[in-house]
Amino acid sequence: MAGFSDKNILVLGGSRGIGAAIVRRFAGDGGKVAFTYAGSEDAARALAAETGSEALKVDSADRDAVIAAVAARGPLDVLVVNAGVAMIGDPLTLDPDAVDRMIDINVRSPYHAAVEAARTMRDGGRIIVIGSVNGDRVPFAGGAAYGLTKSAVQGLVRGLARDFGDRGITVNAIQPGPVDSDMNPADGPMAGLMHSFMAIKRHAHADEIAEYAAYIAGPHAAMITGSLQTIDGGFGA
Ligand code: NDP
Repeated sequence: MAGFSDKNILVLGGSRGIGAAIVRRFAGDGGKVAFTYAGSEDAARALAAETGSEALKVDSADRDAVIAAVAARGPLDVLVVNAGVAMIGDPLTLDPDAVDRMIDINVRSPYHAAVEAARTMRDGGRIIVIGSVNGDRVPFAGGAAYGLTKSAVQGLVRGLARDFGDRGITVNAIQPGPVDSDMNPADGPMAGLMHSFMAIKRHAHADEIAEYAAYIAGPHAAMITGSLQTIDGGFGA
C-alpha cells in the first residue's frame, strides 16, 4: 500500500541530511517527489536517481526563484520546507551578511514558499516547515541569530494555519532537537553539551524526523494544525 501514491510533493532543501531522509520517505511510499538543493549537486543527482525524484537547483535565499519553483510545481499536496542553515557564534563577530542570508533562507523563504504553495494547493493539503527546538529554547551562548529564525517559524505556522484552515490545509512546524547530519554531527564538538540537556542522550536519526513528517502529512493528521511538533529527546523539557 503506497500511502502517498499520486501525491505531488515538494521538499525545499532535500539533497542532504533531514531533507534527504524526507525525500526517501515520501518517494518510498509512492509520492511524486521533487526537491530543491543549492550547493550539493552530486548528492542531489544521486538521490534523484536512487528515489526516482526530481532534483531542482533553487537557492532558498532567492525569494523570486523559490516562489517560481513552488508555482511551477503546483498544485501541490504536500510542501515541506526543510532548507536551513545555522550560523552559531559570538554575535559580536558573526558576519552580518551571513546572518541576513540565514534569515532569508530560514524565515523569508518558508513564508513565501508556503504562501505560494497555498495559492494552488488542493484542499486538505499539508505544509510543513522544519523549525527547531531552538525556537523554544537556546540553552547555550551563540545561538541568538539561529534561534530567532526558528522562533519566527512558530509565528509563521500559527498564522498561516488560520489563513488556510477553511480549505483543510494544515500548516505545522516540526521542531527537531539534535539530529545527526552534516550540520550537527553526532560526534561533533557540541554533542556532549547538547546531550547534557536531553532526557534521551543521543542525536536523533534523520529517518526519525522523516517518519514524523510522513505522519503529519498523512490522512490521520487532518486536525493537527498551527502546531509545533517537537521531536527532541527531551531537550526542551
Ligand atoms: P544539513 O546542513 O545537513 O542539510 C541542509 C539541507 O538544506 C541541504 O540539503 C542543503 O542543500 C539545503 N539548503 C541549505 N541552504 C540552502 C539554500 N540556500 N537553498 C536550497 N537548499 C539549501 O542540515 P540538516 O539536515 O541538519 O537540517 C535540515 C533542517 O533541519 C534545517 O532547517 C535545520 O535548521 C533543521 N534542524 C536541524 C537540526 C540538527 O540537529 N541537524 C536540529 C533542528 C533543526 P545543499 O547542500 O544542496 O545546499
